[in-house]
Amino acid sequence: MAAWVEGRVAGKRQWTNALYSLQVSAPEVTFTAGQFARLALPAPPGAKEPMIGRPYSFVNPPHIAPHEFYFIVLADGPLSPRLAALDSGDPVWLLPRANGFFSISEVAEAESLWCISTGTGIGPFLSMLRTEEPWEKFGRVVLVHSVRYAVELTYRDEIAGIGRAHSGAFAYVPIVSREPTPDALAGRIPAAIEDGRLEARTGISLTPENAHAMLCGNPAMVEDVQKMLNARGMRRHRRKEPGHITLETYW
Ligand SMILES: Cc1cc2nc3c(=O)[nH]c(=O)nc-3n(C[C@H](O)[C@H](O)[C@H](O)COP(=O)(O)OP(=O)(O)OC[C@H]3O[C@@H](n4cnc5c(N)ncnc54)[C@H](O)[C@@H]3O)c2cc1C
Repeated sequence: MAAWVEGRVAGKRQWTNALYSLQVSAPEVTFTAGQFARLALPAPPGAKEPMIGRPYSFVNPPHIAPHEFYFIVLADGPLSPRLAALDSGDPVWLLPRANGFFSISEVAEAESLWCISTGTGIGPFLSMLRTEEPWEKFGRVVLVHSVRYAVELTYRDEIAGIGRAHSGAFAYVPIVSREPTPDALAGRIPAAIEDGRLEARTGISLTPENAHAMLCGNPAMVEDVQKMLNARGMRRHRRKEPGHITLETYW
């Protein structure tokens, strides 16, 4: 059995009926921005494994404690409703080691970095963009956050803080698919790439010559955007074969 570290809930924020952030104090768990933890709670009696754990991306940058996780409650999910029911002071378990290669040090050099997310997939970008690394490596950074309803455009204060810290180098593009929303693009990310609205909005091109794209969240978005970028000549980045696209799917 993996040796779990016992952390403690240090705070909780409810954004909508289904979207929560949990702050967890577990100083012995360290990570690189963009990586994910494994959060766990004791499994119900009779379960095969003693703990039920799932991966969750760190939202806080590594130099800021406590850890923070941003998640959606899936009504029939075995873990997420239980995480949402936790309160300050409750125990929650983590694996001691963070995992994943979805981080700035793993991506290729380029003029611009495009951080493209759906829903809770914005989490790792909020961590990475609050470190110095992306700003030393890229001239411009675009954060795209696509959601269904405007109320799901979360973490606006943190995003505004990133904008203030890096004005001129940062562009934030919210996209809302199911209701007209002032200042947000309508529809979905693949369409906004295909018809040029994303590049027009930011004035930054999304091409193999200029950009590296990191995609995170819904696997359908990741697949569709990847196809679209492939058609532009951008290809998947690998350590041994540098490219232009890095991805993380949440299911
Ligand atoms: C590398 C990695 C990092 C992840 N980081 C996060 C994170 O930061 N925040 C987060 O909310 N989830 C994240 N997930 C998903 C998370 O691990 C769980 O799957 C999710 O919270 C549901 O857990 P559950 O036990 O309640 O239900 P599960 O039985 O695990 O999931 C039920 C179904 O819900 C759907 N689903 C899973 N995750 C999501 C999601 N985020 N949004 C919409 N539908 C989903 C899938 O269809 C899945 O089969 C991550 C997954 C991976 C692989």
